[in-house]
Amino acid sequence: MPSLQSVISCLSDYDPSALPVAKANAIIGDVIEPVGGIEQLAIRTALDRVLAEDVISSIDVPAHDNSAMDGYAFSSAALADAGSDVVLQVIGTAYAGNALGSPAGPGQAVRIMTGAVMPDGCDTVVPQEFVEIQAGGNQIRFAADAVRAGDNRRLRGEDLASGQAALAAGRILQPADIGLLASLGVAEVKVRRRLRVAFFSTGDELRSIGEVLDPGCVYDSNRYTLHGMLRRLNVDLIDMGVVRDDPEALEAAFRSACENADAIITSGGVSVGEADYTKQIMAQLGDVTFWKIAMRPGRPMAFGRITSNGREALLFGLPGNPVAVMVTFYHFVRAALHRLMGAKVAPLPLMRVRSAGTIRKKPGRTEYQRGILAPGADGTLEVRVTGQQGSGVLRSMSEANCFIVLAHEQGTVEAGESVEIMLFDGLI
Ligand code: AMP
Ligand code: MG
Repeated sequence: MPSLQSVISCLSDYDPSALPVAKANAIIGDVIEPVGGIEQLAIRTALDRVLAEDVISSIDVPAHDNSAMDGYAFSSAALADAGSDVVLQVIGTAYAGNALGSPAGPGQAVRIMTGAVMPDGCDTVVPQEFVEIQAGGNQIRFAADAVRAGDNRRLRGEDLASGQAALAAGRILQPADIGLLASLGVAEVKVRRRLRVAFFSTGDELRSIGEVLDPGCVYDSNRYTLHGMLRRLNVDLIDMGVVRDDPEALEAAFRSACENADAIITSGGVSVGEADYTKQIMAQLGDVTFWKIAMRPGRPMAFGRITSNGREALLFGLPGNPVAVMVTFYHFVRAALHRLMGAKVAPLPLMRVRSAGTIRKKPGRTEYQRGILAPGADGTLEVRVTGQQGSGVLRSMSEANCFIVLAHEQGTVEAGESVEIMLFDGLI
């Protein structure tokens, strides 16, 4: 993988103390390459895993032209020949899974069920609701304008043609993909190995659940949100607890994390005025840079790679404030881990909706306010902020259903103007 220093030295206007969000993401993207290691899994077990190679269809899906409706198959030539009504003789029935032996000729039709193979000589299906049955079921009559040539017929290979890439390498397999693989008769696929991610909290004021909350102390919540966010990324987790602000304890934690994980995520101890040892130890163990990102919440962040006993791991030193942890995770770490696991994931779409109120904002930084998207008084969608937006107010994340993303250059938004939002659904 390219070194952080070599990536940074190529940038003309690199300023670690006022780094725009997009630039930080570009640097992270350039430094990371996917981990090696591939395993073969039964398709059901491969849900949420990253496909390691393209899956090429070896068959046409569907394998034959077939009917999309219960009705009668016939040749569309009958439509051209007919007056206002078409009258056809019914010569047999085609059931799904059974091919009809004899073809239908001019003036003939075949009763057909959904999914049954189109009999030879037939290219159109008239749904049974449009048909008047005559001669004790041996003849049908329907209006010539009830269907057009080719209606209600599914074409061979219309879902997937043989030789076509059904799924591309890098795809995180979704339920539909597992079904698609089954439709191709594929039993197993090659996927990338799962990432191992170690994480811990730093700070002497942190107490774990079950401990007494001494004066000035807070319960460690970051490890819990990180645990949840990482679980959703389907990685293997190494929860290393709270690490005291002690150089030996910190070094031991970083080394152990580095030797056992592909990536390490810490929270706390990376702000400018930090009195603790976290930054010092991070810098000592590797190629780490300390950024002040032009964003809110979540300004300070450490990023790089550390080494211990010949093993390397990516490092994300997130800020300590609980909302800042989540925002920096979603807007930096998530994409970075996707890249590390070899996944190709499109950026989450931003939607434009009306802001219910005024949102104060200074140009020169990206803001991720927590919003609630809901129908307004007129029934159309609008977004409002969740009240208290402090970077320590975790309730704002819990109540919100979207980020209101206020771009770097954006100033204050007036009520009624449109803003960009990123829905949590799909993100979390
Ligand atoms: P720091 O970035 O270490 O200066 O921490 C900023 C703020 O976040 C402080 O108020 C810390 O008490 C708080 N904080 C740091 N780590 C955690 C954590 N794991 N859980 C909850 N709050 C935290
Ligand atoms: Mg601290």
